[in-house]
Amino acid sequence: MKYTSTRDNSISISAAEAIKLGLSREGGLFVPESIPELTPAQLSALLDMSYVERAARIMKLFLEDYSLEELREYCAKAYASFDTDAVAPLRELDAGTHFMELWHGPTCAFKDVALQILPYLLTAALRKTGEEKKVHILVATSGDTGKAALEGFADVEGTAITVFYPRDGVSEVQKLQMTSQRGENVNVCAVEGNFDDAQTGVKRIFSDEAFREELAQKGWMLSSANSINWGRLLPQVVYYISSYCELVKAGRIKLGDEINFCVPTGNFGDILAGWYAYKMGLPVKRFICASNRNDVLTEFICTGNYSRLREFYETISPSMDILVSSNLERLLYHLSGSDVLTRELMLKLNGEGSYAVPKEVWRGVSEMFSAASLTDFDTKAVINETYNKGYLIDTHTAVAYGALRMYRRETGDDTLCVVVSTASPFKFTEAVLSALGHESDMTGPELIGRLSELTGVPAPKPLAELADKKPRFTCSIRKENMIEAVRAFLK
Ligand SMILES: *Cc1c(COP(=O)(O)O)cnc(C)c1O
Repeated sequence: MKYTSTRDNSISISAAEAIKLGLSREGGLFVPESIPELTPAQLSALLDMSYVERAARIMKLFLEDYSLEELREYCAKAYASFDTDAVAPLRELDAGTHFMELWHGPTCAFKDVALQILPYLLTAALRKTGEEKKVHILVATSGDTGKAALEGFADVEGTAITVFYPRDGVSEVQKLQMTSQRGENVNVCAVEGNFDDAQTGVKRIFSDEAFREELAQKGWMLSSANSINWGRLLPQVVYYISSYCELVKAGRIKLGDEINFCVPTGNFGDILAGWYAYKMGLPVKRFICASNRNDVLTEFICTGNYSRLREFYETISPSMDILVSSNLERLLYHLSGSDVLTRELMLKLNGEGSYAVPKEVWRGVSEMFSAASLTDFDTKAVINETYNKGYLIDTHTAVAYGALRMYRRETGDDTLCVVVSTASPFKFTEAVLSALGHESDMTGPELIGRLSELTGVPAPKPLAELADKKPRFTCSIRKENMIEAVRAFLK
């Protein structure tokens, strides 16, 4: 199976090439030319398999140029770093509501599910395409992606990684997680500015042909680890299918029953992975897309209009503080079937700042997606109420659960729903403690112990150990000097 670009259908490349390149030259995203089918018999065959085996089999359907044995090995290695073999365990809150905990990996956010395996997929892609250069990963992060990418690529042969984070734009826990990163091939730099400054700086390095040439001379190529890379999206398709299998095995549904998924959404990567699972044949009735106050996707799903021309809010669910949801481009491409239309819409978004999709495309969106958004105030109330039912959740997961309750009230649809739980509550201690009625002047790692004492819930080991960690990386640079930082590191 080949991959094409959302903005240019004349492109047709292998999966390995798509993963190596990350982004298409003309700015489009790589998508599979056709979506493989998961027949009821194939779904049934997955029931008695482990997560790792399911992952290898499902990914194999999309990755013709990787062997099943190879994928099995990568999945086994990648998910050995999780604290449970289930990888994505389900937690039942009530008969119709199951939380899928995706934060049992080394950095305690769902990005580990993809970023633990991406280095294997990417280094294999280099071999398969005959690439002799080593790959340098550049990341601009608002928190979770940076740490997950560092942990994934640390000491992976043939790779190096530089992460830029906004000096004052990440939580103390996230900052120490990154600055204390182990590994000989990793580099972490604070940038004086906000996330946009870091992001713009990284994009500038990518488009600097002279610098790319200079790196190539020294045997390096640049690549990215954010969710525009197909290699990051694909591993996320697995847990939608796997959770369905678990519900069948537990007797909560029968094979063939439709269920709903509710997903806290920022860049539209996670929820889109669910949509791919649905297109393969997974019985899904509806996806509920949950936003915080940056409710650009809620507006889009409800009206068909997308506009980034709006105020940007910093919320207590920072990983969803986003105005341009890059992966929506893939959905628009699949629903319209048109590279011309997709290119037009994306250029409009870039230039004028907004677009409206044609009626038929919007109909396709509203057939499968509902949406709701929550304020910080309501998010905290959800954390509090859920805790009183005996379950501690983080701010992002609370946005999702709150959105699900709104959806249920409005529609009366009480289909069994899997709420995607994307981070450990111990990553966002200040907001979670405040939701439980405990304000504190302390910030960061000290509060991990406090939250644990108060709730009796043990903190995940990597976070519990953080309090004793010392920062290794203390550099803080001006945004003009980001290229210099990469150059110095690669010497
Ligand atoms: C990245 C992230 C999200 C948003 O996921 P997208 O794929 O960008 O929609 C939600 N919650 C947490 C904790 C995250 O780190």
